[in-house]
Amino acid sequence: MSVRELVVLGTSSAVPTRHRNHNGYLLRWDGEGFLFDPGEGTQRQMLHAGVSAHDVTWICVTHFHGDHCLGVPGVIQRIARDKVNHEVRAAYPASGEIYWRRLRNATAFADTDVISPRPVSGEVVRWPSGPVTLTARPLSHPVQSYGYRVDEPGGRRMLPEELTRRGVRGPMVGELQRRGSLTMPDGSTVTLDECSAPRPGQSAAFVMDTRLCDGAFALAEGVDLLVIESTFLSDESALAAQYGHLTAAQAGQIAAACGVRRLVLTHFSERYTTADEPRFVDEVRKSYAGEVVTARDLMRVPVPKRADYQIQRATK
Ligand SMILES: [Zn+2]
Ligand SMILES: [Zn+2]
Repeated sequence: MSVRELVVLGTSSAVPTRHRNHNGYLLRWDGEGFLFDPGEGTQRQMLHAGVSAHDVTWICVTHFHGDHCLGVPGVIQRIARDKVNHEVRAAYPASGEIYWRRLRNATAFADTDVISPRPVSGEVVRWPSGPVTLTARPLSHPVQSYGYRVDEPGGRRMLPEELTRRGVRGPMVGELQRRGSLTMPDGSTVTLDECSAPRPGQSAAFVMDTRLCDGAFALAEGVDLLVIESTFLSDESALAAQYGHLTAAQAGQIAAACGVRRLVLTHFSERYTTADEPRFVDEVRKSYAGEVVTARDLMRVPVPKRADYQIQRATK
């Protein structure tokens, strides 16, 4: 069965707290596993979350601040120790190559040859990966930072009532899907377009340390699931601007402008506790009416089912 969900491994910015580990997020998408920003302690959080080194097919680092990458050595050494035998691609800002090399080879260990670096530069980079495409775009932060997005290609879904109405049944359905049209016994033509509707692909975006910028909006455009940093509340907006971070209000503005379906807030400053979570939601609510999750460690957040989407569209 296909699984499309976010496994939250850590939710704290800068330093871990008693309740929040450094960042770490595994997006499980059918057979792919995108490990975003493994901060310190990610290997152990994976154990707590019930995910294994074998589940990882990509390591995607947004930038080389420690809370986003200090877990890279542990995760790679675990991949080696557990003898993962599929390729694990690693995307990271090319400008941080020196940091990547240090993290990749941080200590002595029996190395693996499955790690395949994909340094990122420029305005947009895309990689096909199994059933989806992974896209990277630049964000705006004191060090170079890239956000990521996963997209499933769009397709078409068959409309049973239209098929029945035209007498298309059994193996004829498959033939219609393959050929795009059918000639019926009475000589009439039935087309795929009139018996099906566009089915948008599902998508998820991961926007970490950044100010408001074009890249954040482009990454979040129309996604089903947006995981986004909201380090501060608005009363610390001067700090947010100074250090290149978003407030919860700004995260909500992005989600609203981009038509996001499910919003996951994370990367919280250590000054906040879980008791402050409703304040983050209140700020988001000033602009965004969709579903909001304030992430906690070890939470699992499903990518919203496409069926929900069809219902929403149908009732509009
Ligand atoms: Zn950070
Ligand atoms: Zn940072």
